[in-house]
Amino acid sequence: SLPSEKYNPKNHACWRDGEPAPYLHLARTFNLLEDEKGKIKATSILCNMFRSLLALSPEDVLPAVYLCTNKIAADHENVELNIGGSLVTTALEEACGTNRLKLKEMYNKLGDLGDVAQECRQTQRLLAPPTPLLIKDIYSALRKISLQTGNGSTLRKKGIIVHLMRSCREKEIKFLVRTLVRNLRIGAMLRTVLPALAHAVVMNSRPTVCQEGKAENLKAALQVLSAEVVEAYNILPNLDIIVSSLMNKGIEFSVSSLSMVPGIPIKPMLAKITNGIPQALKLFQNKAFTCEYKYDGQRAQIHKLVDGSVHVFSRNGDESTSRFPDLIDMIKESCKPVASTFIIDAEVVAIDRKNGYRIMSFQELSSRARGGKDTLVTKESIKVGICVFVFDIMFANGEQLLGFPLRQRRKYLKDLFYDERPGYFEYAKETTIEADDAYLTCEATLTRINTFLEDALRSSCEGIMVKSLDIDSGYSPSKRSDKWLKVKRDYVEGLNDTLDLVPIGAWHGNGRKAGWYSPFLMACFNPETEEYQSVCRVMSGFSDSFYIEMKELFSEDKVLSKKPPYYQTGETPDMWFCPQLVWEIRGADFTVSPVHHAAIGLVHPSRGISIRFPRFISSVSDRNPEECSTAADIVEMFQLQTRKMDVTTEG
Ligand code: ATP
Repeated sequence: SLPSEKYNPKNHACWRDGEPAPYLHLARTFNLLEDEKGKIKATSILCNMFRSLLALSPEDVLPAVYLCTNKIAADHENVELNIGGSLVTTALEEACGTNRLKLKEMYNKLGDLGDVAQECRQTQRLLAPPTPLLIKDIYSALRKISLQTGNGSTLRKKGIIVHLMRSCREKEIKFLVRTLVRNLRIGAMLRTVLPALAHAVVMNSRPTVCQEGKAENLKAALQVLSAEVVEAYNILPNLDIIVSSLMNKGIEFSVSSLSMVPGIPIKPMLAKITNGIPQALKLFQNKAFTCEYKYDGQRAQIHKLVDGSVHVFSRNGDESTSRFPDLIDMIKESCKPVASTFIIDAEVVAIDRKNGYRIMSFQELSSRARGGKDTLVTKESIKVGICVFVFDIMFANGEQLLGFPLRQRRKYLKDLFYDERPGYFEYAKETTIEADDAYLTCEATLTRINTFLEDALRSSCEGIMVKSLDIDSGYSPSKRSDKWLKVKRDYVEGLNDTLDLVPIGAWHGNGRKAGWYSPFLMACFNPETEEYQSVCRVMSGFSDSFYIEMKELFSEDKVLSKKPPYYQTGETPDMWFCPQLVWEIRGADFTVSPVHHAAIGLVHPSRGISIRFPRFISSVSDRNPEECSTAADIVEMFQLQTRKMDVTTEG
């Protein structure tokens, strides 16, 4: 469906040409989006909003993109507002002349601080009309809040917030408050916002696009530009650069005109699960491929910048350089002088170097101090040693290598780095199968890979990765494709893989667990509908200290009393949580469920998929809730299980 031809950006704006855009323009858009479930309609609402901005006040486009996506800076910049619900409530008391008790009562009824603020504002009588808030003012106020540190910072933050609240009109306060508590609840994410901006660019240059007035031209232009801009964001997740380049180039914008920048992490390439070596072999019939150990540690994207500094980024793009001073040294010592800049992909694992060396568990790695703005990890304070296993290179000496085959990327890697230093700096252990041997009935190949998998498991790895080596083996940021497959130990043990799920609610515990939460209600994410869908209840695998920690984290004033509209489940827990944590959960097998709504409609029209005997394995700190297992992942695993059962019954 095409964005509306009838929309005239200038007629629909609530401000004059050349003037800065009011926040009201965004708040009205958010209000429309809040009740909109369909992605196409949501994209079109956002597209219209951007069209007006592009036509009347283009300098507000970038701050509007930030506000729509509830971001204040690129992820790797680690810019945080550091505001809790309590500070926002205090500001509300002052701005709306109400008291905490009343706000608490309203919160219990409405279940959302933004809705509470809106209701307070509606009943408040104002002496004079407030000065209109501008989009750019809200954005710069957020940046200002993020800079407040040290003595008196809470008071200064509150001052800024109260000032903004007093100027709110219509529904502005609802969305201002939600922005401050980092839960905008309009379901708009970059996946929707960037394509909507691309659509707006195309629509505003319509005469150029549809020279022959054909709808197909317009449709193609919309599709191409949104794909380009999403792709560009994967290799350069920096809105400042992407948005300004899109606005400068207009419909000529193309991902090929942008280059990766050391210091800005790209979205990592991901792997698909397989139900065993035969399935992997089938996919790589007659094509050369390589198997690598799948180390069980933490993904590290390592960048060397022009100034010689080395930086480390986690899987979700957060900078974790301060956590790994030892890794930085290892990289500096291992790269040759010829390597002036690079971006490499690696896994960092905990290592015990007492007798030779032994890879330790992921838990050992997690026990290392986190580091960060306030805590410095010094080399002397490090108790758990690490080894880095490098497996890919995406950028070297100013050249982007994404399109090169893996075989060639590996060569680049070895040209830039010295030989391995066992236990410190190593290349991922690998074995290569050339095209001639890559067929299913080749016994020798099967035996070779099986032995390799067993060796990997014996070396405390999770399993192996099977990667395309020549044909179709480029590095695809953020994609989970057949180019990278994973074969894990879990395949042998039962459920193919663990799930990364988000706790969305809980019940009050009984007996020994009275006073804590148990069980927790766990959900996957469905990016198509932008909903969290429940998968199971989980009540085992937790330590007592974990229960206590969760009780504090989700204290009574931080839970939602009402189910958010974007949670899909047949369960009614005692309380609902905002999506903020990700936990690794293992179960025995998948089953179709009338209560849990994961992937509902995908394998059964009215039932979802659940897992039996779920158990908590660990917290996944390097992943945002929206990056947890998706409904599609669960369908895939469910189907693998069904296929596996078919094979077993056939056998
Ligand atoms: P998992 O929980 O299986 O690690 P994931 O969703 O984090 O899943 P996947 O893309 O499914 O990530 O699997 C690849 C992950 O395995 C990478 O993110 C990386 O952290 C890890 N890994 C370990 N060794 C390798 C390797 N040789 N090549 C690629 N990834 C590896």
